[in-house]
Amino acid sequence: MPDECIFCKIAKGDIPAEKVLENEDVLVFKDIHPAAPTHLIVIPKKHYATLNDIPQGELAVLAKVFGAVQEITKKLGIAESGYRTLVNTNRYAGQIVFHLHFHILGGRPLGTMG
Ligand code: AMP
Ligand code: ZN
Repeated sequence: MPDECIFCKIAKGDIPAEKVLENEDVLVFKDIHPAAPTHLIVIPKKHYATLNDIPQGELAVLAKVFGAVQEITKKLGIAESGYRTLVNTNRYAGQIVFHLHFHILGGRPLGTMG
């Protein structure tokens, strides 16, 4: 895990974040620049730089991530109205933070994907 990784620091509690759900494997916190009324970031606590970097034998972490997505969207009351989960991978997708993370966007109609 790189020392300078901002999401590792959030996972360790070294820098603050508005946490909304946490378990042994996964942390969910509010995005600092929200693009929707609800904009959350879901991370595995273990550092993977991108989606490409999860070894075959560790893909179960994705079930943990999406379990957290189910739980928090239900808890916040956006599960039924709807939300988008999104992961940016590398340059063409505009990935900025190289610790695997999933966005949850909801709380308003989001339009169709362009
Ligand atoms: P991307 O890597 O393109 O998926 O975008 C990274 C996302 O992380 C952006 O939406 C940022 O607003 C968000 N972000 C960056 N630093 C923080 C932070 N310290 N706390 C919460 N969200 C952050
Ligand atoms: Zn990290």
